[in-house]
Amino acid sequence: MARPVVIKAQAWVTDRAQSGGIGFADTADQAYQQSARILGMHLKGFTVEQVLVEERLKIEQEYFLGLIIDDVSQAPMLIFSSMGGSDIEEIAVEHPDRVARCTADIASGVQTPQAEGLLENLGIRGKLQHQLCDVLVKFYRFCRQYEMRSAEINPLVLTATGQIVAADCHAVVDDYAVFRHPELDIEIAREFDRPPTELEKIAYQVEAKDHRGTFYFFQMVPQPLPGETYVGFHGAGGGGSMMSMDALLGQGFAIANYCDTSGNPSAAKVYRAAKIILSQKNIMAYFASGSGVASQEQFHSARGLVKAFCEADLSIPAVIRIGGNSEEKAIEILTTFTRHLPGDVEAYGRDTSAVYCAQRLKAMVSKWDYRQSPQIQSKFKKAPMDSYWFDTLTGCIVIDHTRCADCIEKPCVESCAARILKFEAGKPVLSISPAEARKGRCTECLACELACKFHGNRAIFIELPIPGLDQG
Ligand code: SF4
Ligand code: SF4
Repeated sequence: MARPVVIKAQAWVTDRAQSGGIGFADTADQAYQQSARILGMHLKGFTVEQVLVEERLKIEQEYFLGLIIDDVSQAPMLIFSSMGGSDIEEIAVEHPDRVARCTADIASGVQTPQAEGLLENLGIRGKLQHQLCDVLVKFYRFCRQYEMRSAEINPLVLTATGQIVAADCHAVVDDYAVFRHPELDIEIAREFDRPPTELEKIAYQVEAKDHRGTFYFFQMVPQPLPGETYVGFHGAGGGGSMMSMDALLGQGFAIANYCDTSGNPSAAKVYRAAKIILSQKNIMAYFASGSGVASQEQFHSARGLVKAFCEADLSIPAVIRIGGNSEEKAIEILTTFTRHLPGDVEAYGRDTSAVYCAQRLKAMVSKWDYRQSPQIQSKFKKAPMDSYWFDTLTGCIVIDHTRCADCIEKPCVESCAARILKFEAGKPVLSISPAEARKGRCTECLACELACKFHGNRAIFIELPIPGLDQG
């Protein structure tokens, strides 16, 4: 080894030094021992799987440099501390003369005179002022270029040899800007306080590939605890979802996941969300409830839920509170099309409170015989290879025309509100070009599949793949 090193636990926590997550070594043997000690440590619930080994600096002085988006000035703000950054909030209160801030003009950025002024306020002048000024201006440019919501260099150090070194850094890119920066190779644009689970990664890809409405999925308990009754939670809208989760907690349930599909999501998106929720093996019930007054047409969500429940052969109790526009039709779809399933499904509208729905779920769960319930599993059936098919925005529709000859009522074409189906020799086919269907004229509303299925024919299957999820 050429030089002494520092070994740092790579974990999503603060106060690593106080928790023993940082070690020092002068030799290769010591570096090995320190790394072995830190790897596998449990720091505030996180297991350390990686360490960072870096040169140990002879530090003359520690500074802190950070950027936040300031609510008051509604602009990016640089914060610089001449006392380092451990407990920066307390330093700012106890030593206000050692912390300086400046607001950046979003058009012109942080210019040299502004940065010089900030440092001068802290009594930093001469060569050091010049060096740090350069860092401040470049740091702001970097944050702007990569659209950071927050960033910090902590500590920013002055070494014994007079160099300025960024000894450790942390940066958060705005979720909505991640897609503009593929070079950063960010796997999932969500502000988590831990690495994403496999299911969260799968869910994020659904959201990234379908911008109709929003879909957010977060696992509350990646490691379920024994003795709890976990519920798969499916909300719609932030406030209504929080209220609904409170209602569940009030009944003694534990919540396996948070999920929000809102902003007029497609039926396809709600279907994928429900499939992802149902793939959690630990859940004993399903609860969907949001604001109760959604302006979106709720029958789209109802169809998404029905398709997911049918494919999973739902075998646990479910309560769906689906209040909002066209809720009567949504409730009818949910109650009618899930009757044949092993699991009981109850659906309610805007006049029924989240608390009452949670109470109903509790009553259903208390009577449910889970020993009789088969494990939930996804069924992904394939249509015959020579079936008629066309691509949709995120999947494809397959129609087995051999089943249409005996179909009397033929409800499929009539059910298509987008009016893109027609009959040809008694068989449903596209009335537009396949390219138009692929671009989104087929809204993936799922109406044709459900209409056909619930007239007993099962000739239409809409394949909506969820890459990474076990398709059974
Ligand atoms: S409802 Fe089904 S079986 Fe009947 S014509 Fe339409 S696709 Fe064919
Ligand atoms: S073909 Fe029509 S009914 Fe079927 S999913 Fe597409 S838009 Fe909906």
